[in-house]
Amino acid sequence: MSNIRHALTIKREDDFAQWYQEVVSAADMAEESGVRGCMVIKPWGYGIWERIQRLMDERIKAAGVQNCYFPIFIPLANFEREAAHVEGFAKEMAVVTHHRLIADGKGGLVPDPEAKLEEPLVVRPTSETIIGDAMSRWIQSWRDLPLMTNQWANVVRWEMRTRMFLRTSEFLWQEGHTAHDSRDGAMEETLRALEMYRSFAEDVLAIPVVAGEKPENERFPGAVATYSIEAMMQDGKALQAGTTHYLGTNFAEAANIRFQDREGTQQLCHTTSWGTSTRLIGGLIMTHGDDDGLRVPPAIAPHQVVILPMLRDKPEDSALLDYCEELRAAIAHEQVLGEPIRVLLDRKPGKAAGKRWDWVRKGAPVIIEVGGRDMAGGKVSMLRRDRLWGEDGKPDFSYPSRDEARASIADLLVDIQASLYGEAKERREANIVRDISSFDELAEFYGENQRYPGWVEVQWSRPTGDELSKVVEKLKSLKLTFRNVPMDRGAPNGKCLFTGDDAVEWIYVARAY
Ligand code: AMP
Repeated sequence: MSNIRHALTIKREDDFAQWYQEVVSAADMAEESGVRGCMVIKPWGYGIWERIQRLMDERIKAAGVQNCYFPIFIPLANFEREAAHVEGFAKEMAVVTHHRLIADGKGGLVPDPEAKLEEPLVVRPTSETIIGDAMSRWIQSWRDLPLMTNQWANVVRWEMRTRMFLRTSEFLWQEGHTAHDSRDGAMEETLRALEMYRSFAEDVLAIPVVAGEKPENERFPGAVATYSIEAMMQDGKALQAGTTHYLGTNFAEAANIRFQDREGTQQLCHTTSWGTSTRLIGGLIMTHGDDDGLRVPPAIAPHQVVILPMLRDKPEDSALLDYCEELRAAIAHEQVLGEPIRVLLDRKPGKAAGKRWDWVRKGAPVIIEVGGRDMAGGKVSMLRRDRLWGEDGKPDFSYPSRDEARASIADLLVDIQASLYGEAKERREANIVRDISSFDELAEFYGENQRYPGWVEVQWSRPTGDELSKVVEKLKSLKLTFRNVPMDRGAPNGKCLFTGDDAVEWIYVARAY
């Protein structure tokens, strides 16, 4: 298959990081903005985000969570009430100190010393502390619980190493915040959100993930327990794709979130928070992208089917357009995955072949080309993006009749969705190693597998405090991190790889984004 002329200039195996950047720009998803770490999200990238929002929002609401909106500015004092929280975020916080500028006498503007804010305002990096204030006002009695809110917003974390979608200084996300009358209630919600993220990643994004608990050193600042979904990217690295936190009563104490229980006693609430962000789009690229660009799973594709008429700037064009429009309308009447099929008739001028490769790079799941000859024979030329190339090294078109195309499209999209998931899952399973039983073996393994290291699942004794810090440092020397302790993995039967004590659970170790 070496005669294939791929639609990108950089191959994954040659330079995965550069390949990623090329997909982001070649699929026309986003561009750098000139402000460090901030990106402009273009229609195709934002269209995917809108699909994520819509489908995630449905799931959030189905769980009884209601959307609210809270301010972008949070008084610094709010953060200072929770010591671990402020310490964790201090290094990443952008702060507003003035509300006016004045001329500096040299043609520029500077903050007006007269307009200094009495109290600095933090641009939200996350909203526990301001939503906590609202909760303390909204909750009086056990009847007000559970209180379950979510907001869709942008947040700012001043990240040092940024990469579009994966880690940006400003990112878009949803953050769920809930308050409960007991530990059990809050823990149940934390795990419900985790399961919501797992099924969203797998069923919608076709990204297989491991759901599990983060070790102590990876906890969210201020949380009692943090859980994550972890996905394996095509370079074998892990991506934390979403997190849920059981916050205990830490934030309730800080913001005075109390309720009167059935006996009339004042009690502290137990709270949770959980978030997923535009990082999911980075995960989508690094899971499903190939050497021709992105491949978008049908469930999340802004357009699932793109029809390209081979226009020639001639009078015959109008008959061709009519033929294509009839097909578009017929396909739009079909349903897939519980929704009408999203089909675009691309009427933009330009050579059909050029447009084909644009849509290939963007990763529209199905591309249908229609030329004069197709129309004369009552047919179309159809391409599935996930299996682009035929044995002969040419795009693998099929040539159904127009009605066959319409009738088969829903099944085809379902098949593409399943096939992308299957491919990613198979790749992940092939890149997880489970038979490493000493630290030396681990070091050796990663020493030998620099390029596509994959994950190692090991048994450990769940050390804490200093003992854990030492282990984390040791891993760091191999550029490795703990990912999570998978749920429902069953009890281990051996010794901890790090401490030599009896193991109590399994944990994933990997290089990570
Ligand atoms: P957290 O509030 O830290 O638990 O973050 C919630 C989720 O947001 C994480 O699991 C990531 O998927 C995502 N996230 C965190 N930091 C960034 C960032 N700088 N850019 C994009 N997504 C992020």
